[in-house]
Amino acid sequence: MRVYQFRHQRAGRSVAVVNVGDDEGALRNGGRGGARCGRVLRGRPRGPDPPPARRHEERPGGRPLRRRESEGIGVRVLVDGAWGFAGDRRLDEAGARDAASRASAFARAAPSRDGRQLTPIEAQQGRYQTQVERDPFDVPLSEKIDLCLRAEEGMRQPKIKVTQAMVRAQREEKVLVSSEGSSIEQALVECGGGIDAYAADGDQLQVRSYPSQHSGASGQGGWEYVESLGLDREAPRVGEQAVALLTADDCPPGRMTVVIDSEQMALQVHESVGHPTELDRVYGTEAAYAGTSFLKAGDLGSLRYGSDLMNITADSTTPGGLGTFGFDDEAVPARREAIVESGVLSGFLTSRETAAKLGAGHGGSMRAEGWSRMPLVRMTNLHLEPNEGTLEDLLTDVDDGLFLETNKSWSIDDKRLNFQFGTQIAWEIKKGKLGRMLRDATYTGSTPVFWGSMDAVGGQESWVLYGLTNCGKGQPGQSAHVSHGAAPARFRDVQVGVKS
Ligand SMILES: [Zn+2]
Repeated sequence: MRVYQFRHQRAGRSVAVVNVGDDEGALRNGGRGGARCGRVLRGRPRGPDPPPARRHEERPGGRPLRRRESEGIGVRVLVDGAWGFAGDRRLDEAGARDAASRASAFARAAPSRDGRQLTPIEAQQGRYQTQVERDPFDVPLSEKIDLCLRAEEGMRQPKIKVTQAMVRAQREEKVLVSSEGSSIEQALVECGGGIDAYAADGDQLQVRSYPSQHSGASGQGGWEYVESLGLDREAPRVGEQAVALLTADDCPPGRMTVVIDSEQMALQVHESVGHPTELDRVYGTEAAYAGTSFLKAGDLGSLRYGSDLMNITADSTTPGGLGTFGFDDEAVPARREAIVESGVLSGFLTSRETAAKLGAGHGGSMRAEGWSRMPLVRMTNLHLEPNEGTLEDLLTDVDDGLFLETNKSWSIDDKRLNFQFGTQIAWEIKKGKLGRMLRDATYTGSTPVFWGSMDAVGGQESWVLYGLTNCGKGQPGQSAHVSHGAAPARFRDVQVGVKS
């Protein structure tokens, strides 16, 4: 795996450039795990940084340019009902044998021997690669820097204190072979970018970002994805809104109708549907770091998650999604399946083990951050399916409410039941029209009650796919790249304006 990231940040008159990496080698043949059910997962995830290729130190203390690249073998074994995992940096037979030997030793030493079963699959043979129009690693560095400089310059305003623009790219090449007979090669390419403007005046600090505050947005594909974001095109609006927020009124507390933009809806889906439907959390095997879930296995098919308009789909075939692949890390082919249908829980995100335990599902959500980590149940692409109407249509039926845009903060309990979100910007809705701008808006709710209050979801034309690169889970921690598609949605009788 190789990772490229360029960030241009300006604070006053100083400049820092960080994280540029670009190097590559080919994967070579590897071995097999030797246990009853062994898997070899090889890839190029992040690893230690080689010496900086280039340094840009206009700002005292500025971070150097960095490369992030690694390669290795991970072996996962199931021995007498216990999992074992080990990795090795050597991409040769000796490395594979040593890793398999250590993984088997770990499994034999594990106290848990509860006869784990896996859903059966046929041996898979296949290749998958991201369709790329313009390879991001072929785009000249100068072009990437120029784009960031233009976007960053476009946000400048007198009260803007810090601006930053970032672009990134990643290539992951991995081979999965298993003692079940599967042999799969995949090459996944993703790119992304984003801009942020921080305005300050007196004791006020406000931020506006595009497409999101969390490392922008990313998609699987070539450099054409970054170009499609139009970072430089959006920059003046982002800067102007950050300054306008300095003098905007505070969001007042109250219960009212809210219309939430697609970006915040993506995070709402992620936190209050994605994580609680991960079946390992439901079974309590991911409790320590990520928390568990308010859902129980027996809720499948009966729990009322939200209103009839709530349709959530897990789809690892979505074009451009960060969770798109040919096969997951257990060799399960990509698929599309319903998680919530017409407001009722109809599926979980599963591994082959948890699906077998549940007696439903097929696996298909198992992914590892890289070769040195065990795969976990992760979101792939989890979408709120569109319904109908434009944003204006959603506003029309609101006499008195709020339109909330772009996530700024989030807080949710470890069962994913009670939450509070803050957005960067909000507008009053009065008699179906947007009114004055408001700052520091928050809304709070309880997951099924909140989703039950959803009475409108925008149509396909307002449905946007957002890719996040910071979903944390596991010990040691793993960061998953996942996408969510969502349209703006409307919720009735929501508590807003609570200051934490
Ligand atoms: Zn997450």
